[in-house]
Amino acid sequence: MTKKILHSIWIVSSSVFLIGVVCILAILYQSFGTQLEGELEKEAKYLAIAVESVGQDALEQVSKKNDRVTLVDEDGTVLYDNYADEGAMENHADRQEIQDALKNGSGKATRQSDTLQQNTIYYALRLSDGKVLRVSSNQDNVISLLQDLVPALVAIFVLISVMSAFFASKLSKKIVQPLNQLDLEKPEQNEVYDEVAPLLTKISRQQSTIREQLEMARSQQEEFTLITEHMEEGLFVMDAHGNLLSFNKSGLEMLGVQKASVGQNVLELNRSKIFMETVEAVLGGNHHEALMDLDGLSCQIIANPVFDGGKKKGAVLLMIDSTEKVQLEQLRREFTANVSHELKTPLTSISGFAEIMRDGMVKPEDMKKFADRIFQEAQRLITLVSDVIKISQLDEGGIPYEKEEADLLEMARDILDRLRPEAEKMGVELRLEGETMIREVEKPILDEVLYNLCDNAIRYNKKGGNVQVKVQKEENVTKITVKDTGIGIPMAHQKRIFERFYRVDKSHSKEIGGTGLGLSIVKHGAGYLGAEISVESLPGKGSTFTLKWEN
Ligand code: ADP
Repeated sequence: MTKKILHSIWIVSSSVFLIGVVCILAILYQSFGTQLEGELEKEAKYLAIAVESVGQDALEQVSKKNDRVTLVDEDGTVLYDNYADEGAMENHADRQEIQDALKNGSGKATRQSDTLQQNTIYYALRLSDGKVLRVSSNQDNVISLLQDLVPALVAIFVLISVMSAFFASKLSKKIVQPLNQLDLEKPEQNEVYDEVAPLLTKISRQQSTIREQLEMARSQQEEFTLITEHMEEGLFVMDAHGNLLSFNKSGLEMLGVQKASVGQNVLELNRSKIFMETVEAVLGGNHHEALMDLDGLSCQIIANPVFDGGKKKGAVLLMIDSTEKVQLEQLRREFTANVSHELKTPLTSISGFAEIMRDGMVKPEDMKKFADRIFQEAQRLITLVSDVIKISQLDEGGIPYEKEEADLLEMARDILDRLRPEAEKMGVELRLEGETMIREVEKPILDEVLYNLCDNAIRYNKKGGNVQVKVQKEENVTKITVKDTGIGIPMAHQKRIFERFYRVDKSHSKEIGGTGLGLSIVKHGAGYLGAEISVESLPGKGSTFTLKWEN
């Protein structure tokens, strides 16, 4: 801006100077002409006096260096001319100044001289004898006048240029300085030129629009970040070249990456073949899904390309931790295999016994024994199938039980009553302690859980032992404990007894009619009830199972 002002001022001052010079020259030219005319008039008058008193000879004295002097007769014949040969000169009767002099006594004219080929001013005076004395002088033209003045004009021009540059620089700085000092953060608080005020108002208005839009963009970004950061799924948004536009913490954690930055290529985060193939496919514009193993995690990647107006703009990668799903799948496969195996054993026994009986290979007195074995195996099958059905229902999560108020002490009493005949058979004493405790529970599930715990406590007990069920409330905790004085569970097995078909001593368990599913149903059921199940046990001393709710 300073440069532009400087430049403009320089151009203006130069133009003004040039126009001034032209005007002055025109005025000078005009005034020189008038002055010359006056001088010619005076000269003509002096020479006329001389000619009238001395005669034509007086003109001979006039040097050629002086102005041109011409004496013309009344008829226009040139009698004398100090610049040319009068004999060769044409008649001057048609000259304007001569005609005027003959008529009015004096005459003047300005024109191009035929003789001297220059712009000439003529002054003619009629003498008393009727002849006309004419004095003429060349008038310098503008160019020659200018030529004389060139050095002075150049000097003045240089001076003006330097001065205008100096003042222009000072002036432009002075004009620009307040503009440079404008506080654009608060445009309307500046007090500068009135002409700038509308601009500042506009800037202020635009700033507030920008601020509003920024605020909106920021809050949208925050909202997006809040959502994505709280997502359990990993999310990566990238442009058409695979450079990251956005990502979340879960995504980085799944890939085992500490840090990533916007603009970084997504392939730098993971070099596995599956990941690279997925990125390649999605950047090629295709939907792609894959399963990836990441440091013990099973991860499902769903990659979707993003198009805008038919043009590929980028892609979104969604990573879902499917470890649990995969493990569950694995568990289900194992469970199916185990169930098949568990079913096969009693069925094989039943089939074997039945075959022997059919072939008449059993003595009549042993028939009851064999029929008993078949009955026992069939019972085992029924228990097993019923346990499998229970655990499958819990797995599906589709048990249609409603919560209802239940007295936990009463429920425990009922279960112990149902188990009393079995306990008596085993020589185990049943005890119940605690006070009435009302709680909202899915009753059939709690019944199943407690029944299994008490059943185990009786079956894995010793003759003369006891089972003690306690219902109690401590501060915010409601507890039901089932304590036995049985065989106990070695430490190494305690963690695994809740697994499906896990038994500490397989043959012993089978002997007492266990299916290996009881504690799995307990664990599952506890989860369904919103309770926690734990065990404390000492081999040879007994075990305590605790079902606990934190209120
Ligand atoms: P099972 O039908 O074989 O009893 P469970 O799932 O109920 O299967 O129990 C798993 C295993 O845990 C049992 O085989 C047994 O070895 C052990 N167990 C369960 N309850 C007790 C207990 N009260 N005392 C000792 N061992 C127990």
